[in-house]
Amino acid sequence: MDHSVDLSRFNWQQIQKALSVLCGLPLFIYDPVENRPPTPKTQDTPACFLVQGVGQETACLDNYRNKIALAIKTQQILFFKCQANLNNFVIPIRLSKGVDYALVGGRTYSTHADAAAFKEEAIRRGISTDQQSALDENRPIRSEAALQLVVENLQTLGTILLENIHLRSQYQSKSSHLSTLIDVSNQFRKDLSHSMHYITLLNTIGSLFHLKSAGIFHQGLQKRVYRNIASFGEKKTALHQSEILLDHLLQKESLTEESVSRNKEEALEISDPALLHVAQFPEGTQSCHLFSLSDDGRSKICLVILDTELKNDNIKMITSFCQQAGAAIKTLSLQTQIADRRKTIHSLSDLGTFDTQLRQGALCSNLLEQTTQILGADQGSLMVYDDTKNELIVMAMKGINPSLFSLFNVKPGEGIAGKVYQDGLPLLVENAGQDPQIHPTARPRYKTDSFVIVPLKKAGRTSGLISIADKADGTAFSEEDLDLLQAMSSFITMAMDRSALHEKAEELREISITDPLTGLLNRRYFQERLLEEIERCKRHELPVCLIMIDIDDFKQVNDTYGHLKGDEAIKSLAATLRKTIRSIDVASRYGGEEFTVILPQTDKEDAHRIAKRLCESFSMEGTAQLGIPSITISVGLSSFPEDAETINGLIDSADRALYQAKHSGKNRVIVFKG
Ligand code: GH3
Ligand code: MG
Ligand code: MG
Repeated sequence: MDHSVDLSRFNWQQIQKALSVLCGLPLFIYDPVENRPPTPKTQDTPACFLVQGVGQETACLDNYRNKIALAIKTQQILFFKCQANLNNFVIPIRLSKGVDYALVGGRTYSTHADAAAFKEEAIRRGISTDQQSALDENRPIRSEAALQLVVENLQTLGTILLENIHLRSQYQSKSSHLSTLIDVSNQFRKDLSHSMHYITLLNTIGSLFHLKSAGIFHQGLQKRVYRNIASFGEKKTALHQSEILLDHLLQKESLTEESVSRNKEEALEISDPALLHVAQFPEGTQSCHLFSLSDDGRSKICLVILDTELKNDNIKMITSFCQQAGAAIKTLSLQTQIADRRKTIHSLSDLGTFDTQLRQGALCSNLLEQTTQILGADQGSLMVYDDTKNELIVMAMKGINPSLFSLFNVKPGEGIAGKVYQDGLPLLVENAGQDPQIHPTARPRYKTDSFVIVPLKKAGRTSGLISIADKADGTAFSEEDLDLLQAMSSFITMAMDRSALHEKAEELREISITDPLTGLLNRRYFQERLLEEIERCKRHELPVCLIMIDIDDFKQVNDTYGHLKGDEAIKSLAATLRKTIRSIDVASRYGGEEFTVILPQTDKEDAHRIAKRLCESFSMEGTAQLGIPSITISVGLSSFPEDAETINGLIDSADRALYQAKHSGKNRVIVFKG
């Protein structure tokens, strides 16, 4: 039979691959004459390997054979679930010569629950953890409706392809079509930009169908205007980056019987020069075919073919090809977004763990910076609700000096941010100019008319909001951007919460280690620090000195000038201590009018000098500032390890030296001598 010759000469594996890439699913062509196995091993999924690995390979193949036979017999598209719980389909294709082919494929789960059910069953049968993670990593999900759409397109495309290959007479002319088709579908790769995919797609269809001129147009921010993103053929230059008003043509009511003949739901043909002129097509445009590449409800992408007569057969093929290619590009862009999102979530959760040290303000600007970067935006702000002021406070704002933040604070319900806070619902504005809620002069700082605002939620309550504006590329924000921002918002809230907790803990710690009157360390913490310093100096074999200070005749100060003045004197001594000691020294209030200073890595001689300087400074400054004539201190000094080998021993020695200073006339430093 000659049909098998055609297929084998053409390399069925390549055609299979092309169709498979186009629909984004494992797929193979079943040829009744060539006795190939009913499933291609190269397209097995981890689930297939598992099922076949437990001795079900024959069962799996038999299942496929039966389903293919049934589909061919009934000439009905058949959907079935295999042993691995995967959804599959068989599309029977009966060619005009009465030869039966079939397109078989699928291997997707229709829901996550199906995937989980299979995994559970596999675990019950004792699969390894490696196999489990292979299953988790490879979980192709396609809803039944999505699969149905793919199958419908495949049926059209597959029939045309197979018919053409099958008919020897047309084979030569169509072979170039097919090889180009294979090329383009193989080129839909993740690392290529969107516009590259569209350019490739256009060049393919252009050369495949000998188009005179064609272009791909993207609906811009202003819905009426479609902007060219790729052009082809004689009018390539005229079309390049041109703008046309397609909605005149797309509003089907405005089209008359003569000007339009509809070939299929998605394809429009217009040959009325007046209409084409109104739509601003290049001068001399005679006719146009419109094909939808993608339409996600918010923005459309169309293929426009100019001045080319197209046979019905070709229109069908282009329509199908456009639908599939549009879906393939969309899938790729979603995959890229998901990968990006994973990266984002990783980086944000990292931020949440390592940046708790940052103060709230710094953390907020850090978070905002990351978020705007991820969304490719130039502007943004982060606000937190302050219930004491009943106001949304700006914590971070790109491009604005922090000293001006308070100018942008708003009350709940006030302005667009205040409304989002009040409603607690995310907001995507594509075109602020057309939004009656937004005052026309309310956005002088912004370049574009599109922005997104997402409330930050804490325990179900709105605690603030993050708003992002001005996409760097000038386009509008999309639903995907909004989703992404929402996913990030929980991490932002978490990071801010952690940092707030950390700050609170720091505050509490400070309270518990410092003395409220002087702000110096308290006695308990002094002992902790002394232990640390002694341990450290032991390791480095360096001395530590300790001085104990007591204000002379303090009872008299209190009696003469009152307790408040006494307090002032205590504060004044603390201030002198701070000024006089080095940064490595640790001063604390030991109790009443007694103070200690730890002098790490310091020998007695140096410590003595520091202590003397302290006595002098205090009597001078103290007298001057407090207005108390001749207020003085006495100081006792001891050294580790020379005078004692324990903390208590060291404190006791310093205390004894201090006692000695008091008894030998006060206002002096006495160095402990064993
Ligand atoms: P000496 O020269 O021997 O040290 O005589 P002194 O009068 O200073 O005697 P002592 O150190 O025993 O007295 C400490 C006094 O300091 C007792 C207490 O009333 C007073 N005092 C302790 N803590 C405070 C404080 O926080 N504020 C004030 N105003 N007085 C305090
Ligand atoms: Mg005392
Ligand atoms: Mg005293």
